[in-house]
Amino acid sequence: MEGTLTFLGTGTSMGVPTLGCACQVCTSSDPRDRRLRPSVLIRWNDSATVAPADQSHHRIQRAVVIDTGPDFREQALRANLNHVDAVLYTHSHADHILGLDDLRPLSFKAFRESGPIPLYATPETRAVMESIFSYTFSPLATYPNRARVRLEPLSDRTPIHGVDFRRIPLLHGEMEIVGYRFGRAAYLTDVSSIPEESFVLLEGLDHLVLSALRHKPHPSHATVEQALSWARRIGARHTWLTHIAHELGHEATNRTLPAGVELAYDGLTVPVSL
Ligand SMILES: [Zn+2]
Ligand SMILES: [Zn+2]
Repeated sequence: MEGTLTFLGTGTSMGVPTLGCACQVCTSSDPRDRRLRPSVLIRWNDSATVAPADQSHHRIQRAVVIDTGPDFREQALRANLNHVDAVLYTHSHADHILGLDDLRPLSFKAFRESGPIPLYATPETRAVMESIFSYTFSPLATYPNRARVRLEPLSDRTPIHGVDFRRIPLLHGEMEIVGYRFGRAAYLTDVSSIPEESFVLLEGLDHLVLSALRHKPHPSHATVEQALSWARRIGARHTWLTHIAHELGHEATNRTLPAGVELAYDGLTVPVSL
């Protein structure tokens, strides 16, 4: 099945421009230097769907989002996203979950058509989400306009309308987090270490997305150099770097990267085999 992968945001947790900063990248006029918080959208046409009303086959566009950060609303508007089939979460940090409430209008529509939007998360991520969004998830929640969403446990494989999303265990500092493989693409953000057993799940990729914060080492994020060494080992046809801080200007950094590796930018869409 053919689909697309869209970078909804490619910035680090603070976003670029970073508040209060007047550096060259934060004041750049290159639109690729403006980075919202990290998230990707996977879309494909589900041709096997049967419309309940007339029993005829017709194509429905499916959309899965990985993480809903604080910029989700703006990102959804830019991507013309009017329907979400599911959300997969990588971990519980603010830059990856805080936009959950902006799923509300889409969830009301989904709820009428097929039920609450499933949100797949590990027990750790789920616990943070249940605490922050208690007015949504508590069994005692009475807030009438709460998001119509349903937390689902994350398995090794999550099939969503014909596409298999595979869980890729990763480390983010001390924290165990999750990357995802879908078809011949993989999205690994906020990674500081890739466990040995995860490399076998990353063979035969067309597109590999890896986070690369900056050049200076950070306790819980890979540097560009670290990401390049994983990119070489994994050997995807194309590697895209994301979760980028303001130390890395798009144009200047891209000139230094080897063939087949580039910084991603907000709005970039690539075709993927799912
Ligand atoms: Zn992050
Ligand atoms: Zn994080």
